[in-house]
Amino acid sequence: MLDATVVKLLNEQINKEFYSAYLYLDFSNYFESAGLDGFANWYKIQAQEERDHAMLFYQYLHNNNEKVTLEAIAKPDQAFSCHMDVLKAGLAHEIYVTSLINTIYSAAYDVKDFRTMQFLDWFIKEQGEEETNANDLISKMELFGSDPKSLYMLNSELQARVYSAPSLVL
Ligand code: MG
Repeated sequence: MLDATVVKLLNEQINKEFYSAYLYLDFSNYFESAGLDGFANWYKIQAQEERDHAMLFYQYLHNNNEKVTLEAIAKPDQAFSCHMDVLKAGLAHEIYVTSLINTIYSAAYDVKDFRTMQFLDWFIKEQGEEETNANDLISKMELFGSDPKSLYMLNSELQARVYSAPSLVL
């Protein structure tokens, strides 16, 4: 049996990760409409990764004989006035998710739940990578986004991103 607070936070994280997937699909949706298929591809793959994250939390709870409750997924309701707005919303979201992971880790630490801490280690590292990726996108857009030819090249670069399953297997 895991600690009740830890279970509650892990269960909520399933929903947060599915929301992340939905949010990134909305970003992809924005870029599809804007004609930037590479950016759309990048965020579509990002959405796929977030679904994987949700399923890892789901499976971790089941593997520990805990009950999972699936809640409603919130509607992504941000309006964007330019491409950069989307990228910045992505970074802000990842910083928020990092804080959520840290909160669960902290709760596990409080009750000496070493198993959950070890499970979360992968997510601690993953969040570092997610923030780096979001920052890199913003930097590239700042450098190249205002020139149509450079934007075309950047879009082509993001078009090349391919999905790969998470390295964490439960
Ligand atoms: Mg995630």
